[in-house]
Amino acid sequence: MKYYAKPLNKLINELSKLPGIGGKTAQRLAFHILSMEDREAFELAEAIKSAKEAMKYCTLCGNLTDADPCSICGDDSRDKSVICVVESSKDVIAMEKIREYRGYYHVLHGAISPMDGIGPEDINLKSLISRLQDERIKELIIATNPTIEGEATAMYIARLIKPSGIKVSRIAHGIPVGGDLEYADEVTLLKAIEGRREL
Ligand SMILES: [Zn+2]
Repeated sequence: MKYYAKPLNKLINELSKLPGIGGKTAQRLAFHILSMEDREAFELAEAIKSAKEAMKYCTLCGNLTDADPCSICGDDSRDKSVICVVESSKDVIAMEKIREYRGYYHVLHGAISPMDGIGPEDINLKSLISRLQDERIKELIIATNPTIEGEATAMYIARLIKPSGIKVSRIAHGIPVGGDLEYADEVTLLKAIEGRREL
């Protein structure tokens, strides 16, 4: 990339590290940012910096939050008998949008994938096990994605938790196989949670 001056090259390089951003798009974005008003461009940079500094993971559920515990874990009016297990914080938002589910969440930050060398110890599972010591919890709804990894993770958790006597259910497959929970429309997601079956 010797055609670009060093600072521009650096910007293109950083942008191209983002998911879904190839070299051409990175170049386009970099030129766009440089054409912006100074104030606008600095606001963008500042938003990245302050979000990065302010956001952390909830020590209870693993959700992305600017307060610990997060607003969901801190909400005493929610149903304490059920925890919904999801792969990412984006899935929490998808579930919250349907306004049907009133329990708590647990965010795994990934799924078990032996092919990629991701085992049970590499996801946020330990803290889930310790949360289940709370005897008010009666059901665990596993809402991992309907992918091979998501299914493997659901089976692993079900086998792990079953002996404790807590009901373990899996959301139904209104969600297309291979699909992501965060992209499911609200009706599909609602049907998936209503039609959950026990594992
Ligand atoms: Zn939380």
